[in-house]
Amino acid sequence: MHFLREFPLTSFNSFGVAATARQFAAVTSEQDLMQWCAAHGDDTPPFLIGGGCNLLLTRDIEAPVLQLSLRGTRVVFDEGNTVLVEAMAGESWHPFVLWTLKQGLCGLENLSLIPGFVGAAPVQNIGAYGVEIAETLHSLMTINTQTGEPREFVNSECAFGYRDSVFKHGGDAMRDCYAITRVRFRLSRKFTPRIDYGDVKLELQNAAVVSPNAADVSRAVIAIRSRKLPDPAVIGNAGSFFKNPVVSAEIAASLKSQFADMPHYPAADGRVKIAAGWLIERAGWKGRRLSATSAAAVHDKHALVLVNHGGATGAELWALAQAVQADVFEKFGLMLEPEPRIV
Ligand SMILES: Cc1cc2nc3c(=O)[nH]c(=O)nc-3n(C[C@H](O)[C@H](O)[C@H](O)COP(=O)(O)OP(=O)(O)OC[C@H]3O[C@@H](n4cnc5c(N)ncnc54)[C@H](O)[C@@H]3O)c2cc1C
Repeated sequence: MHFLREFPLTSFNSFGVAATARQFAAVTSEQDLMQWCAAHGDDTPPFLIGGGCNLLLTRDIEAPVLQLSLRGTRVVFDEGNTVLVEAMAGESWHPFVLWTLKQGLCGLENLSLIPGFVGAAPVQNIGAYGVEIAETLHSLMTINTQTGEPREFVNSECAFGYRDSVFKHGGDAMRDCYAITRVRFRLSRKFTPRIDYGDVKLELQNAAVVSPNAADVSRAVIAIRSRKLPDPAVIGNAGSFFKNPVVSAEIAASLKSQFADMPHYPAADGRVKIAAGWLIERAGWKGRRLSATSAAAVHDKHALVLVNHGGATGAELWALAQAVQADVFEKFGLMLEPEPRIV
């Protein structure tokens, strides 16, 4: 693998903050990665990245940064109604979704236009508009970065949860220890609409689509997301900065009695998911910055998104995030958990 020294990461993170990797290599072959890991297992573990859309870098990175850039997409087997497809880690997620739709395959349409690479998608079990990849992910292939050994994880071994997986919550023993190199999805030729979440149904109605197919749902999701979310190519951000807190039914009932208009949704095990964006907006943070001169801000249209208006440092964005966290905790007693990896 070819390492570049003192490599600037500004265009490798969607916040667009300045940070430097002491060493950086793009991984384009599983064989190379296995050999490199086997030879460097005793060294500092590498820092794995994909598209950098779920990272907040507040400092330079001393560990070797490996960008998983493996490319390729294929049908593994086709059983008629069910088709197993595989994408390599370095494929961009959205073009991969469009590729599945072109093959007539359904299951990923609600996840259209999520930025980033396929290899990072399982790390936080990406989800949108009522669908998570845990529902269609069949298995994934990894390389242990300490030993160079390949290991397959089937869906049940990934311990998927809301924006979570064993690769995220497994702590240092898991994070950066397994480089995900390929991901397999079990998709269907039969379309089952999932359009009850958010504005998808309304978007379809407005487009005069009466009986939608998967491509229609994808187009509706793309239209909604393009309107609602700031494009990282224009204004630095990492999408939703905080997870929606999931609380017990008792805590939710107590909050509802104080804030009747608080949006909430049923979650697993009788728990309740509270809309973090509403909490932040209600706490008065929408559009705010910590100081008039800071380029780090809460987005003025979407309170869940922190943005870099140009030149903000990772530390400034993190200070803003912590101020939001503290204020929401004081006002609602709920501690917001960041969704991106904070470095
Ligand atoms: C505008 C915008 C909208 C977004 N909307 C959504 C949304 O609707 N739903 C959602 O779930 N997310 C959303 N996100 C977050 C982000 O797109 C996803 O988390 C995406 O999967 C990140 O991919 P990435 O390749 O950029 O990951 P990176 O930011 O590069 O990495 C994310 C994490 O995964 C690890 N990692 C990366 N690649 C690998 C690999 N191959 N093997 C092992 N570990 C790896 C990294 O170490 C890091 O911990 C949004 C982000 C933006 C900027």
